[in-house]
Amino acid sequence: MPSGWANDVRIDVDASGTITEITPDSATREGIHLAGPVVPGMPNIHSHAFQRAFAGRAERAHGGTDTFWTWRRAMYDVANRIDPDDVEVIAAQLYVDLLRNGFTSVAEFHYVHHQPDGTPYANRAELGERILAAASASGIGLTLLPVLYRWSDFGDAPPRDEQRRFINDLDGYAALLDALAPHASSPAVRLGIAPHSLRAVGPRDLDAVLALRASRDATMPVHLHIAEVTGEVERALDVLGARPVEWLVANAPVDERWCAVHAVHLTEAESRALAQTGASVALCPSTEGNLGDGVFDWPAYHRAGGRAGIGTDSHVGLDPAEELRWFEYDQRLRDRRRTVATSPQDLYVQCARDGGVASGRPIGALAPGMRADLVVLDPDHSALAGGDVETIVDRWIIAGGGCVRDVFVGGEHVVVAGSHKDGPGIRRRYAVTMNNLWNG
Ligand SMILES: [Zn+2]
Repeated sequence: MPSGWANDVRIDVDASGTITEITPDSATREGIHLAGPVVPGMPNIHSHAFQRAFAGRAERAHGGTDTFWTWRRAMYDVANRIDPDDVEVIAAQLYVDLLRNGFTSVAEFHYVHHQPDGTPYANRAELGERILAAASASGIGLTLLPVLYRWSDFGDAPPRDEQRRFINDLDGYAALLDALAPHASSPAVRLGIAPHSLRAVGPRDLDAVLALRASRDATMPVHLHIAEVTGEVERALDVLGARPVEWLVANAPVDERWCAVHAVHLTEAESRALAQTGASVALCPSTEGNLGDGVFDWPAYHRAGGRAGIGTDSHVGLDPAEELRWFEYDQRLRDRRRTVATSPQDLYVQCARDGGVASGRPIGALAPGMRADLVVLDPDHSALAGGDVETIVDRWIIAGGGCVRDVFVGGEHVVVAGSHKDGPGIRRRYAVTMNNLWNG
């Protein structure tokens, strides 16, 4: 709980799935018995679901010339082959896998919008609705972030042919937002906006998309990719006359509803400035490691009081414990010292709480008013054997793996004793889709 560990905790949940009351040292024996350590479910604040179909398929070397950009070419190939059924099936399997590891909500940064030839579907929100259907089938909470993608580079460079499924003008984007809005009326779903990056959305477009948001719901979360790779920083210096985060903080009304995805390449001044806005950074350690992006400078950002959550982005990793372990080890390897975050548990608590803020939903802590997103760890797992409740989360993150036993989302029991309630059916459909995609 926000105040630390407590014993024999009774959690009352209303019919909509929101926590109404929390009572430590309760003698009650009614309701569902959660027989193990319970922690708040982790929000996953950065996902491109379709990329899961591609995970582990771009790992063969080509003479030492592979970079983020060569990976992206291969990823575009998949993005241009999937159909609406594929999008739904891949996302449903991904969300089941995330749930089984303790992620209870996902912020889907959704940028494949159109038919393979680039023309919109008859229903402009077709693929966004497939994401909604997948989230609903899996039971995961969702912040749906339809992406505005306009240009191929800084300076409004025309989009490239392989980006045709992503591209919207502002009218098209407004229509997309309006088509998706009615789906975001349940407590399980929130709609936000995602100007893709300063590469793909120029300064005028950013102003325009923020005006769209202001005219619909000015409290919507705003997520964007920023400062992921050094080439992007150099281009921003050339075209905008400032580094990406430096430019953003000076030119946009960044506040706690914003989420800067990656933000790997920051000067100390940018780190402080970003922290002071109240925005969250989405740390995606397994993807950033896989793509060779670089290492986020946690000590500087943390000293400045910055908010942060975790995402699994390209989905080479699917587990909050693995992401946080990677995150801590990257810091240790760079600085050649130990325990750079105060503790893995503190990092977990912070990323859960701040990830909830970035998701724009009442999640990420066990407290009245929050959704009943609960992860029950397995007390029989060897990493959790022995007393010492204070180090349970440390042991899960550093020494565990597969420690999650039960998962509740909005009070719904979606993972029971390690198995998702609809896991087998979703897995069967996924196997067919993957077979068609890669062997068909
Ligand atoms: Zn991303």
